[in-house]
Amino acid sequence: MLKGKIAVITGGTSGIGYACALRMQQEGAYVYACARHEREFPVENIEYRFLDVTDESSCQRLVKDILDKHGRIDVLVADAGITKDGLTVKMDGEAFDTVIRTNLKGTFNIVKHIGPQMEIQGGGSIITVGSVVGQFGNIGQANYAASKAGIIGMSKSWAKEFARKGVPVRVNVAAPGYILTDMVKTVPEHLLETFAGQTMLKRLGQPEEVAGVIAFLASDDASYITGTVIEVNGGMRL
Ligand code: NDP
Repeated sequence: MLKGKIAVITGGTSGIGYACALRMQQEGAYVYACARHEREFPVENIEYRFLDVTDESSCQRLVKDILDKHGRIDVLVADAGITKDGLTVKMDGEAFDTVIRTNLKGTFNIVKHIGPQMEIQGGGSIITVGSVVGQFGNIGQANYAASKAGIIGMSKSWAKEFARKGVPVRVNVAAPGYILTDMVKTVPEHLLETFAGQTMLKRLGQPEEVAGVIAFLASDDASYITGTVIEVNGGMRL
């Protein structure tokens, strides 16, 4: 349960982040769902906030705004992410840089302003979002794989750094496989069928199935879990 917790979700307006917002609200959290484009929510206690994770000052403003109101942030889900796929031979620098700037630096930008605050306030839970691609690679996704592998390294560093003074700030990575969201709409149908066939469960995942795991990691039920990568991929790689 997340009763009374203040949660910030980057990328909270779509796909996995949106499912997290609804799930955390159901569990009693007050949720800030953040992204560049506004979205309405059908329930109370979820507020949209503008955020561009590539802009550190945008992250700083968001955090200040929430702290002015509540004085603390208990949960951060650093979910905002994009793809710009292409074979390396054809991938221009812009496609590489944009994905790194959003997924990797964007995660850094928001954690930089919330992790230290969690230390000051006496605890908190950060969940970053990796990918099966960050662990095992994928054709046409060198930029994305690099960003997601980097997120694992940063998150393990933060699990050590933010808890170094004995304050229980936990940092974990949720690493999804192929989940049916807008992001995978660009993937050709036959490839999605192949990916589904590679899982033990013979299907792709739903955003709610990732949101449930993230909500668990955010909760006090996960109080002894930190520095881990939890795979949510239907047994895609065993
Ligand atoms: P969606 O495309 O559905 O959602 C992405 C979200 O990120 C949107 O809310 C988008 O809103 C937001 N976002 C993108 N760029 C920025 C930015 N610069 N600043 C703030 N918000 C931004 O994707 P998914 O739900 O599928 O993906 C969510 C996360 O899960 C990503 O990190 C993705 O890499 C990861 N993932 C997804 C998998 C999948 O199969 N779907 C598999 C493995 C990992 P807006 O554009 O309005 O800013």
